[in-house]
Amino acid sequence: MAALTKELVLENLKRVKGPELVEDIVSLGMVSEVVINEGDVYFSINIDPSRAAELEPLRTAAQQVATDIPGVKNAIVTLTAEKIAGPGPSAQAAPSPAPARPNPANAGPPPPMSQQPGTAPQIAGVPGVKHIIAVASGKGGVGKSTTAVNLALGMSVNGLKVGVLDADIYGPSLPRLLAITGRPQPIQGNVLRPMEGYGLKVMSMGFLVEEDTPMIWRGPMVISALTQMLREVAWGDLDVLVVDMPPGTGDAQLTMAQQVPLAGAVIVSTPQDLALIDARKGLNMFRRVDVPVLGIIENMSYFCCPECGHRSEIFGYGGARQEAEKLGVPFLGEVPLDSEVRRRSDEGQPIVISDPESAHAQLYKEISVRVWDEIIKDDGTHSKPAPNIVME
Ligand code: ADP
Repeated sequence: MAALTKELVLENLKRVKGPELVEDIVSLGMVSEVVINEGDVYFSINIDPSRAAELEPLRTAAQQVATDIPGVKNAIVTLTAEKIAGPGPSAQAAPSPAPARPNPANAGPPPPMSQQPGTAPQIAGVPGVKHIIAVASGKGGVGKSTTAVNLALGMSVNGLKVGVLDADIYGPSLPRLLAITGRPQPIQGNVLRPMEGYGLKVMSMGFLVEEDTPMIWRGPMVISALTQMLREVAWGDLDVLVVDMPPGTGDAQLTMAQQVPLAGAVIVSTPQDLALIDARKGLNMFRRVDVPVLGIIENMSYFCCPECGHRSEIFGYGGARQEAEKLGVPFLGEVPLDSEVRRRSDEGQPIVISDPESAHAQLYKEISVRVWDEIIKDDGTHSKPAPNIVME
C-alpha cells in the first residue's frame, strides 16, 4: 500500500472535476493545503461563495475520493470562499512547504497534550532572523497588539533590528496601529518585501486583503497564510521578529504557535482574575508546545459603555505580578491604563515614538530591555555580542 502523503491525496483529487466540469479541482488551484493527521485528511476547496449550495456535490465527491484512498480513516472537506487581492498569501497559490506539525485549527484534534518538554520537533528557522517571539493574550481587548507594537518599537529605539508579524488573520490591527497603508510588493516570485513603519519591518494580512472583503477562513488556510507571511517575506537581517498572536489560547492559537520557530512568548494580561486565568491558559499553551514563557506584562483594562461612552475602569492592581511569581515566570512590568496610550495607539502614533519622553514610553522601553534580556538568556545560538542597549 502506498504511503498516505499529500501528493497521493492531490493525485487522487485530480479525478474530481471543477465547477464547469472541464478541468479538475487540483489543476484549477481550488484545493487548499492538504493536512494529514493520523489517517485523517483535511482540506478545503475554494469556491465562489454565491455558488456554495450548487457546489455541495463537488465537496461530497472530493470527500468520497479522499475517503477511498487506502489508509484514510476520515476525510474532512469544507468549501471555503476566500478572496485575496494582489500578490501574497493565497489559498489558491501553491501551498508553502509543509509546516512541521500540521494541525488544522478548526478541523482536527489538537496535538497530544502529553508533549514532554524537549520533544517538540524542530521547526526550520527563518533565514536572517535571530529570534522570533510571540506576544499572546488569553482573550481579546487586553491591549496585546498595543503592547506588541510598543515593545517592538522599544527594542528598535534601543538599537535592535526588529520586525513585527501580525498573525491575527481574522482581525489584523498592525496597519492601523502603525499607520501603514499600501501593499507589499513582490521582490521575486512569491517573495514579498515587508512594509516599513517607524523603523520596523511589518507584515500583516491587513495589507493583502481589502478591508471590507468578507473572508471565511478555514484552519488549513490560516496556517498557509501564516507560513507564507513568515517565510515568503524578505525580512532581511533581524535581531527580533515579534509575532502578534491572535487573542486566545484555543486550538487555533496553539496550531499557529506550532508553525513558528518561537524563541519564547510574552503574555499580556489585565490584572483581573478572569484575565489571569486566561493568561495562565496562555502560559500552559506555550509550555505544551515547549516554548519558553519569557514573562507576563500586566496591562490595565477598561469598560467603555457603548451607549454613553463612559469608561469604567476596573483596577485590580498587582494581580499579574503575584500570578507571575506563583507561576515562576518573570514579571516584565506593568503598563497603567492611560488615555494617551489609547489615543495615540488608535491613531497609529505609538507612544514610544510619538511621545518618547513620556513615562509610558520609558516604561515600554524598560520592558523591552527585560524582554531582550530574557530572549538572550541561556541562548547558545547568540554568537555575537548583544547590541548595546542604552537606557535613557
Ligand atoms: P488586543 O490586541 O488585546 O485586542 P489592543 O492592543 O487592540 O488589544 O487594545 C485594545 C484597546 O485598548 C485599544 O483601543 C488600545 O488603544 C487600548 N489600550 C491598550 N493598552 C492600553 C493602555 N495601557 N491604556 C489605555 N488604553 C489601552
